Amino acid sequence: MYGWDASTRVYARPYNERCCSQRHGGALCNCAALRAAPFTANLLEPLQQNAALYIMTEEPMAIRIPSSNDPTSAYDHHQTVVCPHCNTRSGLTAISIPRFELVRRFLLDRIGIAYKCDACREPVFLRHEVNSRNEAHIAISETFTEVERPTETYDFEHIPLELAPDFREALLCYSTGCHNAFAAMCRRCIQTAGDLLGAEGTSKVQQQLADLKAMGAVDDLAHEQLKAIMLTGHDGAHPHLPKVDAARAAILLEIMKDVVYQLFIRPAKIRKAAELRKEAIDAQ
Ligand SMILES: [Zn+2]
Repeated sequence: MYGWDASTRVYARPYNERCCSQRHGGALCNCAALRAAPFTANLLEPLQQNAALYIMTEEPMAIRIPSSNDPTSAYDHHQTVVCPHCNTRSGLTAISIPRFELVRRFLLDRIGIAYKCDACREPVFLRHEVNSRNEAHIAISETFTEVERPTETYDFEHIPLELAPDFREALLCYSTGCHNAFAAMCRRCIQTAGDLLGAEGTSKVQQQLADLKAMGAVDDLAHEQLKAIMLTGHDGAHPHLPKVDAARAAILLEIMKDVVYQLFIRPAKIRKAAELRKEAIDAQ
């Protein structure tokens, strides 16, 4: 249960959306509010979902742009994102808000607000839905879509030269929200990885993965991870298959980073450790 529950007067949202130490719409942060609230089954559900709870007297107010264009409401709603410029989780403060008369005149259903990152002061753009428009004010949803996303980074020191360009391109696709392209690039990466690890030269990724397992180049877990990447990549590359959405892409990213680490970085670090030990012994 994320959102407003009128029966318990509780507003729940995922923890990572906002620090629970912040005040929200006049309500207390919910560690304190929870201690005061009667514990009911309705409260248990969001707790199980690891949500932050807000005890409120009314449904949380949307961001409002009044007919006077007073920016106070937007200014008072601080958002938290991973900044696309400094890559840190940071608060955002609204600095450029659409004008009331223009949103009304063009009957906009979505608008953009420019914020400044509180850490690096660079501009960050968020897209919000317009909930309602009337003569007094425009109500804008607090929830948002990030227009720019942080660039995914990775330590490429031990990644083979044949694989690095494809993996960089995959991360770029993910960072720009091109999830189907990201999945397709991940599939291409594991095909290159298969070649590098000595799988039989074949256009069938599935056969390559079977070869790697038969050769003992990957263990059962890595093999399952590679299969998951292959299947998601297959979906990303073919229009008749299910699309790869943000949630699937986020999981794919974690699997991909993990498997690249297992296949290339960990063996390289073990080799390096052995080399350094040998050097130390020789120097004695
Ligand atoms: Zn920043």
